[in-house]
Amino acid sequence: MYPRLVIDLKKVKNNLDKTIKMVKGSGCSLMIVTKGCCADMEVYKLLEESDIDYLADSRIQNLKKYEGTKKGRVLLRLPMMSEADEVVRYADISLNSEIETIKRLNEAAAKQDKKHKILLMIDLGDLREGIFFKDEDEIYHAVEDILELSNIELYGLGVNLTCYGAVIPKKENLSVLVETAAKIEKKFNIKLQMISGGNSSSVYLIGRNELPEGINNLRVGEAFLLGDETAYSQMLEGFCDDAFTLEAEIIELKKKQSIPVGETGVDAFGNKPVYEDLGIIKRAIIAVGRQDVDPENLHPIDSEISVLGASSDHLILNVDNSRIDYKVGDIVKLKLSYSSLLRATTSSSYVERVYVN
Ligand SMILES: *Cc1c(COP(=O)(O)O)cnc(C)c1O
Repeated sequence: MYPRLVIDLKKVKNNLDKTIKMVKGSGCSLMIVTKGCCADMEVYKLLEESDIDYLADSRIQNLKKYEGTKKGRVLLRLPMMSEADEVVRYADISLNSEIETIKRLNEAAAKQDKKHKILLMIDLGDLREGIFFKDEDEIYHAVEDILELSNIELYGLGVNLTCYGAVIPKKENLSVLVETAAKIEKKFNIKLQMISGGNSSSVYLIGRNELPEGINNLRVGEAFLLGDETAYSQMLEGFCDDAFTLEAEIIELKKKQSIPVGETGVDAFGNKPVYEDLGIIKRAIIAVGRQDVDPENLHPIDSEISVLGASSDHLILNVDNSRIDYKVGDIVKLKLSYSSLLRATTSSSYVERVYVN
């Protein structure tokens, strides 16, 4: 069946081993983030046998699939109040920034006779989750309140960067997190076990020896899945960018002009596309679409093919420059960037998965 996602488990294992060596070699504990592959169970088996410390995901449904794991389970997205019971049941640690939610977690943990660990998120300027680093009073108030909850353990602090604000982790901003932790420890006479210094955008600091001392955990998804650090989008040495590839079938192959005919409005997704006049070109339509991939983040392995556009179920390729004489029914192979991998694994009713060793 096509389209299908081909998962090369040897390459996944290569990336996993390299991630472990890099992150744990720097003295940090390692959370492997599985949301980018929707908690694929074959990938999970590799993780379970490895030396990683935690399985992390933003969706509780994915963590639920890891029942029976020997690894710690971490919920990355701030819990919804309405899912407090499930969070305590299926996650050992959750990332939090709202005291009302933390109180709900405390109640749920009391009911389940558990102690639930949390990382308090500090926003260093990326403007996604966390208490803003300049609002020191709010940080201290939150800590004070958390310390009163008998079924919650304030396990440490965390930061997330390069997600909304595209802010790059540096020695300077991450040091603020370490300093904040030190101030909290002093003020409340407590020890914070974990200072979690970010995601795949932080790993480049390891190579430069610039990860501030005191950061002792990283949460890594994309670098492990696709082999790139995400601060400057560089491939990491020895990692593979093709552990996951997509195969889709050509359903139409015709020569057509490259500019639409007639007055143009908006496309199927409400955008006003710009068309480049390439004259008459050979175009292939493959049977996959925006429901399954992000056309801007797809890379045909035949580098002489380019992506012209897509609707929900059709992806249009310019195959005019290719040396390969494609036919209807042929299979086109593509590499995926993060957003395409996320969609392809989410679209599991339509995108088959095959595993190679
Ligand atoms: C998604 C996510 C990560 C992992 O990010 P990558 O760029 O894939 O490494 C880490 N932390 C949080 C809070 C996340 O939401």
